[in-house]
Amino acid sequence: MSVPSTPDAAAKGFHIVTFGCQMNVHDSRWLEQALTSRGFVPAPVETARVVVVNTCSVREKPERKVLSTLGRIRQATGGNPDVLVAVAGCVAQQLGETFFDLEGQVRLVIGSDGMAGAPQAIEALLEQPTKRLALLDFSSRYLEREIPATSGQADPVALVNIMQGCDNFCAYCIVPFTRGRQKSRPTSAVLDECRRLLDAGAREITLLGQNVNAFGKDAQADGVSFAELLRKVGALPGLARLRYVTPHPRDMGPEDVAAFAEIPALCPRLHLPLQSGADAVLARMGRGYDRAAYLGLVESLRTVRPDIAVSADIIVGFPGETEGDFQDTLDVMRKCAFATSFSFCYSDRPGTRASGFADKIPLETSRRRLMELQSLQEELGGAWLEGRVGETVDLLIEGRSPRQTPGLDSWQGRDPYGVPVHVSLAPDADHTGEMPVVRIVRAGRHSLIAEPA
Ligand code: SF4
Repeated sequence: MSVPSTPDAAAKGFHIVTFGCQMNVHDSRWLEQALTSRGFVPAPVETARVVVVNTCSVREKPERKVLSTLGRIRQATGGNPDVLVAVAGCVAQQLGETFFDLEGQVRLVIGSDGMAGAPQAIEALLEQPTKRLALLDFSSRYLEREIPATSGQADPVALVNIMQGCDNFCAYCIVPFTRGRQKSRPTSAVLDECRRLLDAGAREITLLGQNVNAFGKDAQADGVSFAELLRKVGALPGLARLRYVTPHPRDMGPEDVAAFAEIPALCPRLHLPLQSGADAVLARMGRGYDRAAYLGLVESLRTVRPDIAVSADIIVGFPGETEGDFQDTLDVMRKCAFATSFSFCYSDRPGTRASGFADKIPLETSRRRLMELQSLQEELGGAWLEGRVGETVDLLIEGRSPRQTPGLDSWQGRDPYGVPVHVSLAPDADHTGEMPVVRIVRAGRHSLIAEPA
């Protein structure tokens, strides 16, 4: 994020660096609005007075990335002690006050439940240059955040948290340790935020949670189930599209499946983490479903919504994974014909059960499997995109396309299946938030090209 450096930037300039998932993106966007409503202004890292690094610890590498990022910030700011550096997100929760020793400029550590108090903490620490603060306590209930007094138009696509934390403790996952136990947000608070965003011009809402379809299944539940919440949000005036991430296959009940046929705004796209296609591996992961159950779920989704696009998360090289197990994973991918998938090599995460498992897979084997899996995914995804040429769909325009063709004014939006689509529209007009109907004329590697229908 780079903006002009002004005198304000020196005094109240801020810069946010974000790693990781949609929930981190949402947290950073909220913090940006909360700071802006306090008179802070976005600034380049070189001149910012406050620099926040919002971190992810799902895999080993991001952790190292945080330390190198802090090093680059020190260089860019000349190690200026007046610059307040804050570390937020999952690595902040995981390493806590250790950051004060690791990096001298760090004076604020913001854990997952500490985000709500971050704007006040930043203001306080700017007044007290020698003080350091760590907001690491977990809360037993969902902590509502202030509503930033931001003016004007909301983005066409909005993200809304409906819960925090996770109770599943999958054997490889650090999230329950860094995001805490699951706590659902009150339904009324979710609906109020959705209404506010729709009144401010949003057209599409994505509901967020680590285990979003477990909403209403914890001590903070207010009696509303996930499927009921989808209906309530889906019925809000002004909403054109509804999405949610990330569900757990074990928590997808028949009412959640039926919702794809019954709620017109609910988009025909579901990201459904698989992790492995082998029963033995799924059992060791503690995922709570087997291969047959996952395939059955995808089949029932396709029965109620035949055009639904399914994507997945997959881990290769989980301890004990045999070549046969890996082939089972590839087999499930073919059977489900995933539109896309996010795949990674297993890596030990501190404190997780799997980090103590014996039969670790050599990295070169994991990497070879990952390459094989990703080339299969390229095939599956490419065939799916090619099959879409000729279709007529509506787009929600989010902005201009990053790459422009001379003489054409290309805009980008997503179709109901969540695919980025580029289309040339009338020049010299802001098409953000419009929903044109277009005809797909060409498939790219991960996007589509269309023309107005
Ligand atoms: S459900 Fe997801 S967030 Fe929760 S422990 Fe499992 S992988 Fe992690």
